[in-house]
Amino acid sequence: MELAPRMKKIPPYLFANLDKAREEEEKKGEKICNLAIGDPVEPTPPEMVEFLAHSVGKGENHRYSPYAGILSFRSAVADWYRERFNVSLDSEKEVLALIGSKEGIAHIFLAFVGTGDTALIPDPGYPVYRTAALMADGEPYPVPLLEKNDFLPDFGKIPEETARRSKILFLGYPNNPTAAAASLDFLKEAVEYCRKRDILLCYDNAYSEITYDGFVAPSILQVPRAKEVAVEFNSFSKPYNITGWRLGCAVGNQKAVEALGVVKNNIDSSVFMAIQEAGIFALKNGKKWIQKTVEIHRRRRDFLVETLRTAGFQISSPKGTFYLWVKTPRGFSSADFSTFLLKEAKVLAAPGSGYGEFGEGYVRFSTTVKDELFEKACGKIKEACREKIFSK
Ligand SMILES: *Cc1c(COP(=O)(O)O)cnc(C)c1O
Repeated sequence: MELAPRMKKIPPYLFANLDKAREEEEKKGEKICNLAIGDPVEPTPPEMVEFLAHSVGKGENHRYSPYAGILSFRSAVADWYRERFNVSLDSEKEVLALIGSKEGIAHIFLAFVGTGDTALIPDPGYPVYRTAALMADGEPYPVPLLEKNDFLPDFGKIPEETARRSKILFLGYPNNPTAAAASLDFLKEAVEYCRKRDILLCYDNAYSEITYDGFVAPSILQVPRAKEVAVEFNSFSKPYNITGWRLGCAVGNQKAVEALGVVKNNIDSSVFMAIQEAGIFALKNGKKWIQKTVEIHRRRRDFLVETLRTAGFQISSPKGTFYLWVKTPRGFSSADFSTFLLKEAKVLAAPGSGYGEFGEGYVRFSTTVKDELFEKACGKIKEACREKIFSK
């Protein structure tokens, strides 16, 4: 049996090599602290779990959901967007339930990218954007996110001919993996860029609620006329610590929402209705839970930033996400530094090169580890870097 040609273009799993190195350390009896993945360990708010349990008990919830999601869920999303962003949405035409936002992010390419079509993909970036473009037999064009530009794309550097051929531009702030934030002014520029070239602007707002120091993340849909070109993906995973439940939404441009709905209608049958009901409950009651979650990650962010500064790094505190994107010490590639941290500090950090060629020279730390383990890991990072890198 032979795999389809598109499968040959899919790069191996991001952390495959690193996992091997970790297994070797673990075989030696070392306990490794995993700061490489962003999967919150804090429990889901108990009220939300209780609500879900109740919803699971309702027999009518065990049947197929309407393909776009139940209307009460879509209305709750529209209400939340009005309250949170002052954005108005037609819950029937401009809101779609997703089985986690990753599902919609991957499937939107099938609706808009044909064989050989170009997709503008941020680099470094969440790996799904690129692989989903490849799965649709499209051609991902990497748009560099450089530190000197605050990890925002420089639209002037994209060749005009490439832009004119492009069907999709993906962006998302607060950004994974760089932890950079974007202002509404930048989002205006992005909408303008896409409007002029008739490109679908896909905005990944998975971290809209995970922000610090008073920063409030905007929605792309706050930009006037954004709905003409933009669709936004949002996720329940990170704000409510429910990565395993699978719940998200796509909102905005009607054509994009409808086309994504057609793709999904032919692949899945939407989200378990009990989970959608728990999602409604979270949207109506979750503000205080989110504040608690954010406070936990802010404390860890501060601890890690302080740790790295004391060790000899020059870094600033990110305004959002639960990541820290750190330039490797002089002479270290991403893989070198990840390996160093694994061997010397027993800490797993994600090599930036796994997020694209422009991620080379960085590693990503996440704050999704329990306090005690996290602080212990920080201590070891500080010691190893101070003694074996910055003392030289
Ligand atoms: C976690 C994450 C997602 C996916 O979230 P789900 O809703 O759990 O699928 C999407 N985009 C980014 C950038 C993420 O970090």
